[in-house]
Amino acid sequence: MFSKLAARQAGRSAVATRAFSSQVPYALSTIGVNCFDEHVMKASVSKETYDHFHETLASGVPMEKKPANELAEAMQKWAMERGAGNYAHWFSPVRGAAGLKNDAFIDYDFGGDGQHGGTVKDTVLDFSGAKLFMNETDGSSFPNGGLRQTHRAAAFMSWDRMSPPFVRGTTMFIPSAFVTHNGEALDDKTPMLRSQHAINKEGMRLLKNLGYDKPNKVVSNVGWEQEFFLIDREAYIARPDLKACNRTVLGAPPPRGQQTDFNYFNKTDPRVRAFFEDVQKEMLDAGSAMSVFHNEVAPSQYELSPIFKLTNIAMDENTMCMEILEETAARHGLYCLMHEKPFANVNGSGKHNNWGLNTDVGDNLFVPGKTKEAQERFISMVAVLARCLNVHGDLVRTGAACSGNDHRLGADEAPPAIISLYTGEKMEAHLRAVMDGGELSGYGEDTTVIATGNNEVAPITANLEDRNRTAPFPFCGNRFEFRAVGSTQNIGFPMAVLNTAYAESMGVLSDKIEGGTAVRDAVSEMLSENFNVIFNGDGYSSEWPVEAEKRGLINLNNSYEAIARLNSEKNKDLFVAQKVFTSDEVDARQEIMAERLATDIVIEADCMVNMINTGVLPACAKDLRDFDGTGLGASRKALYSSVEKSVQELKTVVDDIPGDALEAASYAQYKIRPAMEGARSKADAAEELVNAEYWPFPKYKDMLFDHHSQPSHYE
Ligand code: ADP
Ligand code: MG
Repeated sequence: MFSKLAARQAGRSAVATRAFSSQVPYALSTIGVNCFDEHVMKASVSKETYDHFHETLASGVPMEKKPANELAEAMQKWAMERGAGNYAHWFSPVRGAAGLKNDAFIDYDFGGDGQHGGTVKDTVLDFSGAKLFMNETDGSSFPNGGLRQTHRAAAFMSWDRMSPPFVRGTTMFIPSAFVTHNGEALDDKTPMLRSQHAINKEGMRLLKNLGYDKPNKVVSNVGWEQEFFLIDREAYIARPDLKACNRTVLGAPPPRGQQTDFNYFNKTDPRVRAFFEDVQKEMLDAGSAMSVFHNEVAPSQYELSPIFKLTNIAMDENTMCMEILEETAARHGLYCLMHEKPFANVNGSGKHNNWGLNTDVGDNLFVPGKTKEAQERFISMVAVLARCLNVHGDLVRTGAACSGNDHRLGADEAPPAIISLYTGEKMEAHLRAVMDGGELSGYGEDTTVIATGNNEVAPITANLEDRNRTAPFPFCGNRFEFRAVGSTQNIGFPMAVLNTAYAESMGVLSDKIEGGTAVRDAVSEMLSENFNVIFNGDGYSSEWPVEAEKRGLINLNNSYEAIARLNSEKNKDLFVAQKVFTSDEVDARQEIMAERLATDIVIEADCMVNMINTGVLPACAKDLRDFDGTGLGASRKALYSSVEKSVQELKTVVDDIPGDALEAASYAQYKIRPAMEGARSKADAAEELVNAEYWPFPKYKDMLFDHHSQPSHYE
């Protein structure tokens, strides 16, 4: 159905690329070799089965038993040829990280007696259609937010038939959704898939209302960029906070942090380069078009991104990538820190989501377009986005809510928590002209020529608009970039929220047009009603939050505030109307997110108490003894006493946490976090005085630089 588009999105056509032989390091001939993609499926099953698979995928019904078995057997054979002895339905529980349960490709043969009362004749290789499409397990320990009573434990994994299985190591991974016995979502995949349907339904409706009836389908795509840190594995092992929370809860700033920004796009250290090449190879083998990697701005920080894909597939590739990063780091004696803020005072990590809408006839709806019709469509899409972000800015921000992200959103290193839309100045001027009664068309795929001031470098042809890295939602010429998402997050939920809010706004524009308003006037009206969300200035400036408040934009500057609003009446109405969540599912998600937030903060606080009591204070005491009778070090005693006092206060605060999930999250935000800051500032001040030989943990200066094989002064 989408095979042509899917192949282009994947950035490869397996058949075409396999024809070339090449000396490139990642061997083009093996791209996708471990991915059971369209081409492999077509080559391994009969035409009837292949066609039947796509018909059932389009209509949403199960495959017939016989072709389903044929497909499963072909898949098993293919997987075993690649060394896989197991298969696993691999899913995305709301608690975070992927879930999977390995199952061998074996079963008992009960002979002709059947399974009930028969005798086992043999152990045989077996993988049927029934096993491929679905698995059932005890889901009782997955957070369900009250969707299920404790004794009702069944949970089901079911293959997202659009996302191809792949082999890594000895396992064939089957990307799956994860639901309760009543079909309620316990995962991030299910809402994501439902939101693709909402985008398709309202997208098709709006395109027709705009006079464009060629497409049969509208989909959302994402090209994600994953940021992370790499440190030496030994340093990781020596830090209890990294082991417990993946971030340092203590640590004085190093003399050299990122003041020089020298790490940004600097040459990659040879040890890290070798790591990246292994990651790239494994991702390419598994079918992900891993293309870009580079050093990021903080010391020991890096980024990679593959070419964009359908959002439900891109989310699986991102989870796979995170797993590959962790495993490859281990093989290289490194540790991959995916946390949003592993180190205070240096930049944290995000996951930028380049988001686009495409049709099955090859349109990119976020390209300004060459023809009058395409330009009108584009401006209509921008008006829809302005409404989406204005009306549902709170919800879009909640999509990026997690404990780690609180340390970076709004801290001058990532976009602020205020959701605004960056269009660029020329587009803004055009939108203003539309609101003044002008035509929708006129803002097209124009470029600008940049002179370089010499003859050797030819003039540069560039997009009309400059980039804006301080905006949560900048226009990038052919896509919008949702920059607020945290580096640990599964992109399924944030992108589902965005798709849902956007689908609704497409519907609102359709309502206006279907109600008899001319397209131009409807778009102009939608722009006027939501223009306050467009902001082309500096999102890091101190004036912006003040200005945003005047404009009525909501500023949810911590995850608790965001999560608390997830189940407001407005948001529930949206999710229910777009068929992405039921009312109960929204409540459940809120509870799970709140519980996770509170738990993360409590683990961090407990860890901090433990590190100070068992590591920092003994070091302080030893240090004090060295100064006995010297007349030196007079200021130390008072500081070290304040460390002890603040950790006792922190402990008392943590012990008082309430039981209810939302109350606990609020308490963790407003009581525990400030107490942690108090204790940390004292302990970090002590670190700068205590004899370095007594300090019990690796310091920032060691963690941020020691993983290099070739220490460089230029980082
Ligand atoms: P940047 O320079 O902004 O960091 P990168 O090159 O790191 O950009 O990543 C850009 C991402 O955007 C890639 O994943 C790319 O495939 C993706 N992308 C490009 N065009 C589109 C589009 N039309 N829709 C969705 N994603 C896109
Ligand atoms: Mg980038």
